[in-house]
Amino acid sequence: MANSDRNCLFCKIVSGDIPADIVYRDEHVLAFRDINPAAPQHLLIIPVKHIASLNDLVGDEDTIIAGHIMQAAKVVAKEAGIGESGYRLVFNTGPDSLQSVFHIHGHLIGGERMGWPPFPGASVEHG
Ligand code: AMP
Repeated sequence: MANSDRNCLFCKIVSGDIPADIVYRDEHVLAFRDINPAAPQHLLIIPVKHIASLNDLVGDEDTIIAGHIMQAAKVVAKEAGIGESGYRLVFNTGPDSLQSVFHIHGHLIGGERMGWPPFPGASVEHG
């Protein structure tokens, strides 16, 4: 599979054809601020390689890329000031999750106390 898809919004951010507020970049991963933040801190962590969703992770190379996303999340969370207060890393995948951009992205969200579980009308009390 090609490493880039010329019709993909996030591939265009990787290439610099579309601007973004980039906060982290390495050989495998890019992180930038979500254009429509849902939390005080809302960053997207994406692989440089075009992979449409978690369902499309294949083989050892993609396993390594998935690990890089997790490692980058830790670094980006710390730099955003939420490493200790807490955060979520959410990968919307498929229709029920409302995934809208088909290039893997972890939503790194934090900066405020969250609720759980993330379904309308459901609630769980944590001690
Ligand atoms: P999802 O619905 O899980 O696929 O998430 C896609 C996310 O991408 C949404 O939270 C959007 O606000 C975000 N988004 C869309 N376009 C851009 C952009 N040009 N720069 C930054 N974030 C974007």
